[in-house]
Amino acid sequence: MLRNLAEMAWPEVARAVEGGCTTVILPLGATEQHGPHLPLATDTLRAEALAKRLTERLPDALVAPPLPYGCSDEHTGFPGLLGLEKETLARVVLDLARRLRDWGATRLVLLSAHGGNREALALALELLAKELPELDVSMNDNFESIPEALIEIASKDGLSPTELGLHAGESETSEMLHLRPDLVRSGLGEPGFTGDMEAVVDRLRSDGLRAATENGVLGDPRRANAVRGARYLDAAVERFAGELEAGRA
Ligand SMILES: [Zn+2]
Repeated sequence: MLRNLAEMAWPEVARAVEGGCTTVILPLGATEQHGPHLPLATDTLRAEALAKRLTERLPDALVAPPLPYGCSDEHTGFPGLLGLEKETLARVVLDLARRLRDWGATRLVLLSAHGGNREALALALELLAKELPELDVSMNDNFESIPEALIEIASKDGLSPTELGLHAGESETSEMLHLRPDLVRSGLGEPGFTGDMEAVVDRLRSDGLRAATENGVLGDPRRANAVRGARYLDAAVERFAGELEAGRA
């Protein structure tokens, strides 16, 4: 059965909803720099891949087309940036929720692959709770730290959390080598900021990435590996699916 709304025809959607597919996963990405070696669509492609994997865990879910714009002003100063104000993104989510509720969806899962979307999505949750309280809404929350499961996978391969990084480091580069190796510029992956990732987050929020990293990378992508990238994606989805099942997301 088709699960991807963009590829479905309306009678197929109607039948799916009638058959109990009333959850919609909305993948949220960004269009922002990911170092000299990864494309601007990195988070959008990752969001799409995570959503696809999540449908294997949620048999009642359909996947919406990914939103390629998010809140990315921390990347100001790097060419190519396209983004939304957080109120705009929150309102886009609300607008989409109104429509999907109208054709019978009862549950919305927000799946963001970009940390900067956090505040906008928190605002979206407020707006949704006010206007569409009957819609069951969940959201992933692993935004501003490196998930424990990923650190575990990396450490088995002798990699440190600073190599994994928070942005365009080993983990995102490995994921992209798995998803779209054609878009990873070989030989251009260089280390950026490789200090304490947890400590740098506040500084990124106030001063932007440019102040912390010349090349836009937080981490060290040089040992990225496609097989490990697939494992990272699986682990992230495993964790989120577990939270959804436990009603914690
Ligand atoms: Zn990213």
